[in-house]
Amino acid sequence: MAIQVDNLEKGQVGAMIEWLASIGATENGGVTRLLYSPSWLEAQQALKNIMDQAKLHTYFDSVGNLFGRLPGTDLNGKTILTGSHVDTVIDGGKYDGAYGILASFIAVMRLFQAYGYPKKTIEVVSLSEEEGSRFPLTFWGSRNICGTYTLDWVTEVNDTAGIPFLEAMKEVGFDPEKYSSPFRDDVERFVEIHIEQGMVLEKNQKQVGIVTHIVGQRRYTIRIKGESNHAGTTPMSYRKDALTTASYFISYLTEKAKAANPQLVATVGRLQVKPNVPNVVAGEVEFSLDIRHHQEEVIDLYCNEILTEFKRYTESLSMEIAISQWMDVKPVKMDAEMCEWAREIAERKNYRYQDMISGAGHDSQVFGMKCPTSLLFVPSQKGISHSPKEFTSLEDLETGIDLLTEVLYKLAY
Ligand SMILES: [Zn+2]
Repeated sequence: MAIQVDNLEKGQVGAMIEWLASIGATENGGVTRLLYSPSWLEAQQALKNIMDQAKLHTYFDSVGNLFGRLPGTDLNGKTILTGSHVDTVIDGGKYDGAYGILASFIAVMRLFQAYGYPKKTIEVVSLSEEEGSRFPLTFWGSRNICGTYTLDWVTEVNDTAGIPFLEAMKEVGFDPEKYSSPFRDDVERFVEIHIEQGMVLEKNQKQVGIVTHIVGQRRYTIRIKGESNHAGTTPMSYRKDALTTASYFISYLTEKAKAANPQLVATVGRLQVKPNVPNVVAGEVEFSLDIRHHQEEVIDLYCNEILTEFKRYTESLSMEIAISQWMDVKPVKMDAEMCEWAREIAERKNYRYQDMISGAGHDSQVFGMKCPTSLLFVPSQKGISHSPKEFTSLEDLETGIDLLTEVLYKLAY
């Protein structure tokens, strides 16, 4: 399908979403574009082609982030960066990441067609990787631009098929031997638009969300060691049952989460029982714990409280507990001034909007630690995401692009 770039009319974003989703399309109607896979490469090249047609100055950095540059007339060397990620989860949706790239491209082209060159340089970016779906690391694209990842981070990393990260990179033309850090110190501000991936906007009948914070996340693996024993001959009072202990912990942490703070969420999504046999008292249980909130203090206080209780309780039963924390992502605040500008624009244009907190991670949280950053949301139908059923109406997609266009005008013209 040919994409017409000189006249990006209202509604064209719908066709462009379908066009990009056709690269890596799955039989379920979803998209799979894993980092450095053939479909990933094809998508980045296709995006480069439309940016070239639109006469943006295009280039890739060493890790495959694609940029389309519209130079500014002020020669202060600073850049307004806007975009999102091109990779997807396995059998993911058409909008996650893709919408942000296409919306940024359309917004920049509309601005150029209406007002010509901006004062400040604007670059549209198609970030190489955010999801962590192929290799066990996330934000590869944005963390390279922000200088918090280098090649050293991936020398030992393989995908599930055993293919080394560096080999996969080389395979699609980004030779690690030629790596030079993609770190950019010229990015003055970053703006990302993304689907909400939740149902808050839809429930509240809003058209756009202005994200004020992205939550912090902590993840633990908790292992309880009791004693496996005969289900018939071991009296209740003699048991060291790892499963009843785990079930007490799960109810305890759930109740405490509800009481701690309305926005705190705590999830046990995985539980493994050993030996997992009907007539044997469980000797060992391992469960995952995922905790999120937008204020570090709230997470700290909550974790302290529940982990202290876990230790006290297992000790009182002469059982053992091992708590291992394997993820600690700090909450990130979006730029207050940029939030205010987005609100002013939404007021003026009569959009139904609201402030919100993002419970999912985004590239904006990486940029948000480096430079003033703004994250905008459009509704996700029924809150569904990371699924072929992901959907946002054309009207909402266009409202998002309008808001993004106005924000970029404010920042660069
Ligand atoms: Zn995403």
